[in-house]
Amino acid sequence: LQLNYFQILREIHDELQNQFGHGKVADYIPALRRVDPRKFGIALCTLDGEVIHIGDALEPFSIQSISKVFTLSMAFAKHGDSIWRRVGKEPSGNAFNSLVQLEHERGIPRNPFINAGALAITDILVSDQENPKQFFLDFMRKVSLNPSIQYDAEVAASEQEHGYRNAALVNFMKSHGNIQNAVDLVLDNYFHHCALSMSCVDLARAMLYFANHGILPVNGERLLTVSRAKRLNSIMMTCGFYDQAGEFAFRVGLPGKSGVGGGIVAIIPGKLGICVWSPELNPKGNSVLGMKTLELFTTRTGISIF
Ligand code: GLN
Repeated sequence: LQLNYFQILREIHDELQNQFGHGKVADYIPALRRVDPRKFGIALCTLDGEVIHIGDALEPFSIQSISKVFTLSMAFAKHGDSIWRRVGKEPSGNAFNSLVQLEHERGIPRNPFINAGALAITDILVSDQENPKQFFLDFMRKVSLNPSIQYDAEVAASEQEHGYRNAALVNFMKSHGNIQNAVDLVLDNYFHHCALSMSCVDLARAMLYFANHGILPVNGERLLTVSRAKRLNSIMMTCGFYDQAGEFAFRVGLPGKSGVGGGIVAIIPGKLGICVWSPELNPKGNSVLGMKTLELFTTRTGISIF
């Protein structure tokens, strides 16, 4: 039986679109504060090439921590298991920008999807490349099939200006020998990763290789081995939503990743990539309507990984 994804998504979008006002747009990065809280888009891309989108799904937004999935994928593809000497793979149960855990764990972040972990991964990418910002941008253009995506310089500058906590995390890791490059260089790259602007359609498409055992569907290029793609999906499942990873697994049942720009990406292995954007966040930093949309999606389609 062929599921009618469009109809299901349209129903969910219609149903939820008046439920704004239950969260708060991220305001600790001033440039994000200006986003219209009522933006709401959903996009779904299947491995068969179907692209379905509703609402504001073509409008670029700040991907923020969704970038952490792709930076991890790039570092894992190049360095394999040696990255686990620099970063753990256990759920944190703490806020994404927590300092306290890092001290207990002597500068080895709990996982690659909290800020400290992504900063350590960024340090690895910076060591690898002459022009790491361009390298990341080129990679994201390739996986999204959209050569026109760009960094939002204003968001990057705003993060830089208010990035005291991220600076503290990098400095602390550096004091433990877990950062090789200059602190400012690592931060500049990290802020740019977060400040990339992409639409729901771009992101749903970019997630497809995680649903396809590491192979880019459009040209068959292998970006991750089968085993590493599985492992990356496992980390999304256990760590993709900070201290709400359990709640997301419970309600939605898919590997995914959120960002404070209000985006959430998720995949169904062997089938599809999906992205929802709604900027109002719950206190844990996850999009309120994004989580609700995906919960209804797996409930109504009856498909999840379980
Ligand atoms: N750029 C944000 C930060 O570093 C990303 C956080 C997020 O999306 N959770 O705080």
